[in-house]
Amino acid sequence: MIEVTLLGTGSPIPDARRAGPSTLVRAGGQTFLVDCGRGVLQRTAALGVGANSLSALLLTHLHSDHIADLGDVLITRWVSNFAPDLAPLPIIGPPGTAEVVENMLKAFGPDIGYRIAHHADLTAPPPVEVEEVTDGVVWGRDGVSIRVAPTDHRPVAPTIGFRIEHGGASVVLAGDTVPCRSLDDLTAGAGALVHTAIRKDLIDPLPMQRIKDICDYHSTVEQAAETAARAGVGILILTHYVPAIQPGQEEEWRALAASVFDRQIEIGDDLHRVEVHPGVCAKPGG
Ligand SMILES: [Zn+2]
Ligand SMILES: [Zn+2]
Repeated sequence: MIEVTLLGTGSPIPDARRAGPSTLVRAGGQTFLVDCGRGVLQRTAALGVGANSLSALLLTHLHSDHIADLGDVLITRWVSNFAPDLAPLPIIGPPGTAEVVENMLKAFGPDIGYRIAHHADLTAPPPVEVEEVTDGVVWGRDGVSIRVAPTDHRPVAPTIGFRIEHGGASVVLAGDTVPCRSLDDLTAGAGALVHTAIRKDLIDPLPMQRIKDICDYHSTVEQAAETAARAGVGILILTHYVPAIQPGQEEEWRALAASVFDRQIEIGDDLHRVEVHPGVCAKPGG
């Protein structure tokens, strides 16, 4: 079984009830943080998951809302580890990730210096191990494998989606993307698809062009559902709601997805949890 928890279902616009985009995937005793938006560690704390118990950080792309708390993840993991040797945190993301991580550590340079000077048992900066990828298998440990494929969030490029597999169960995390062939291929036959979504019908009428621009490079609810339907997945999990779902509006969002995808649809608030079992897989020939 793979367990998916929506840590943050918000977007770049601050919301009192929704943290920034981030999803926790737990499989075979391993814990993967996919993107690390605003407030992510407050949400993992609610689950009893500390920064120092992460197996890896997976980044779909380098938009600010998806990496807003990268510094917090790196520093908190480092200061809350009391074992003598802290292993490097594997960080898997698109090209550009290494520079962002390096610059983040630079920005926290004074903090890192203060702590090394003050605590005898902290002798080196937060250890990281960054892998930049656009395609292929990136993880294979103790029965958990992870594959990456390009998505299409242009002009933001490159961007990637992840497929995590364990014991016959599988989950794809699409991130921000418009429908594209490589995401279809990555998602084919998966148990679940976690996809970000926007309501074009609500965004398009707004008078600000900069807000309208959002529609250019995101999937609508219906497009995300179409991707799920084409791939034959068992469960569509929508997140990163733009605009934020207001109380009572949830069924409207669900109905839009259900108009093109007739299987399980999950929409929820932060900490919404979905179990993906091995049996939840493709329709025959899907
Ligand atoms: Zn984005
Ligand atoms: Zn985003």
